[in-house]
Amino acid sequence: MRSAGKFEKLGLRSSFDFVLHLPLRYEDETALTAPQSAPQGRPVSVEAKVLKAQVMYRPSRQLIVHAEGLCLRFFNFYPSQLKQFQRAVERGQLVRAYGEVRAGFFGAEMAHPRYRIVSEGEPLPETLTPIYPSTAGVSQAELRSRVLNELDSSQLLDTLPAPLKCSYKLKDFGESVRLLHRPPPGIELAALADRTHEAWRRMKFDELLAQQLSMRFAHEKRKTRRAHALPANGALLRHFIQNLPFKLTRAQGRAVQQVLHDLALAAPMQRLLQGDVGSGKTIVAAIACLAAVDGAQQAAVMAPTEILSEQHWRKFNDWLAPLGVRLGWLHGGLTRKQKKAVLDAVSSGETQIVIGTHALVQEGVEFASLALAVVDEQHRFGVSQRLSLRRKATELWPHQLMMSATPIPRTLSMTYYADLDVSVIDELPPGRRPVSTRLVSAERRSEVLGRIREACAEGQQCYWVCPVIEESKEGDLQTALETYATLGGELKGLRVGLLHGKLAPVEKAAVMDAFKAGKIDLLVCTTVIEVGVDVPNASLMVIESAERFGLAQLHQLRGRIGRGARESVCVLLYGGPLSPTARERLKVIYENNDGFEIAQHDLDMRGPGEYLGERQSGLPMLRFADLTKDAVLVEAACTAAEELIKADPEAARAHVERWLGAKRELIHA
Ligand code: ADP
Ligand code: MG
Repeated sequence: MRSAGKFEKLGLRSSFDFVLHLPLRYEDETALTAPQSAPQGRPVSVEAKVLKAQVMYRPSRQLIVHAEGLCLRFFNFYPSQLKQFQRAVERGQLVRAYGEVRAGFFGAEMAHPRYRIVSEGEPLPETLTPIYPSTAGVSQAELRSRVLNELDSSQLLDTLPAPLKCSYKLKDFGESVRLLHRPPPGIELAALADRTHEAWRRMKFDELLAQQLSMRFAHEKRKTRRAHALPANGALLRHFIQNLPFKLTRAQGRAVQQVLHDLALAAPMQRLLQGDVGSGKTIVAAIACLAAVDGAQQAAVMAPTEILSEQHWRKFNDWLAPLGVRLGWLHGGLTRKQKKAVLDAVSSGETQIVIGTHALVQEGVEFASLALAVVDEQHRFGVSQRLSLRRKATELWPHQLMMSATPIPRTLSMTYYADLDVSVIDELPPGRRPVSTRLVSAERRSEVLGRIREACAEGQQCYWVCPVIEESKEGDLQTALETYATLGGELKGLRVGLLHGKLAPVEKAAVMDAFKAGKIDLLVCTTVIEVGVDVPNASLMVIESAERFGLAQLHQLRGRIGRGARESVCVLLYGGPLSPTARERLKVIYENNDGFEIAQHDLDMRGPGEYLGERQSGLPMLRFADLTKDAVLVEAACTAAEELIKADPEAARAHVERWLGAKRELIHA
């Protein structure tokens, strides 16, 4: 393979990419140890004259190299290696090897050490040997020589002005990088290993700062784009607000104000509406859509599942159809002819608000004038899907309202979500009772069945959530079918329904209808009900094999109950024995009802991946900084970004250019 191609597999293209390819760890070859006195279990560098090299076939094929006081063994080797050692014998050369020395058949012995043939008196390296993250087909030696070459030929000027470095106590950039690639012997290795050394601190700071700056630039750029300014005080909106189906909570009121304020501007809104499950985000979205209708424009509401899109469709119908708003629903159950009618109404402008799944972003969907795109459960969508919805607007940019019930911990909202404005609904509508959570061993399943019978006898409804089978939707389906059959037998007399992702949209809708109408007592389901489903009469939820679910997922699921006036109970059935992390997860969910708390625990336990969803595919992931361990640095980079943009916008640009360069376009496309 060409070497450029090889390195590209590691993401290494530009000279700076190589410079930033920092070592995973180091090996100390700055001093030699005599083979006989090598310590146990710790790698050392040794040197010995090569005496003889031969291939042996017993007990298995191997290359044995005898050197003075040392024997080397290689089970996998190239013929060229044998020759190399034989040549060394002829020339009286030495082998310098790095690895663990053990007591073997021939005395001190090393298996598969990293080695080099050297001549007598060849100087030892003066710095520790860096070991780089690599991949199959790229040797350490090759990678190291390229990285160090790039390092030596780069100027590595500092992008940060002296006053900023001084006030944040930052070490020089070039010095830091050089130190990380070639640490001097005697350096505190622990600080390098756990990345707390000040050279590491500088790398992390720069990385976080670049991210902060680029987010801010994107934010600025957006403000220069044009969008339809939508009236915050139009006739429909006023009428709706005066006749709301319920009194908005204070938090909802605040979110509505923020959204309407943004919509009234001629720059596109980019707002994330964050609120725990059941906090009432939908009505805020409906109000935003009314502003679009009042402004003689269209709005689109995109939901991640058919079930959710139907639920929105119904709510919007209840709320807005009486005002004469013309609504459309694009869903999978439409005949070809019906679908065409819906699409025509959208493209002619007849339909003012259209609701659907990602079907909304497909080709063939054209809007007369899309001014607002609402994306529910935004983390469920890929960047590209959200972008394509935005592209459905023709002349001007659409406003975007993204909604999420997955609370985003502070460090994350300061980093990956810093380009969005955020409204938080941190209050539940009145009358909600917190759900009480019980941890029950699967051995006590029959007691749980008893509870279900009692609850249903009182006219309540229940969910039975089947376990997720790792890596396999088919497996999920299989368990759901089996559980449905078993429970149907065990709970004779109850009306048991089944809901899973493989049902056709009309079938799903029929099951949900029956459940909502109280015609099903117990709904056996997969995690398809995880997002958004709203049936207030359901007050008992059993989650089977709860230890297999993620924290965010458990919280979402549990949020499906506790919506009515009755006290709700969530039973987490677990099968023992539990792994320590599973135990920890269940403990967190048992002890906490607050989504933010749970999210913070989740972030601590699992890292940020889960929260970024598809967002990560377009954003530069942090390579060096760790959002959990480096929370303090995140805060520092955040204020530094603000200061730098004010004090020295040129330097700010140069810094982003260095760190993100070509990737920048991708991020904010
Ligand atoms: P989510 O934020 O999870 O999307 P929804 O918008 O679906 O929540 O709201 C959950 C339920 O609470 C719905 O039945 C909704 O009609 C109801 N609701 C929302 N806001 C209020 C409120 N201020 N007072 C009473 N009920 C409300
Ligand atoms: Mg919702």
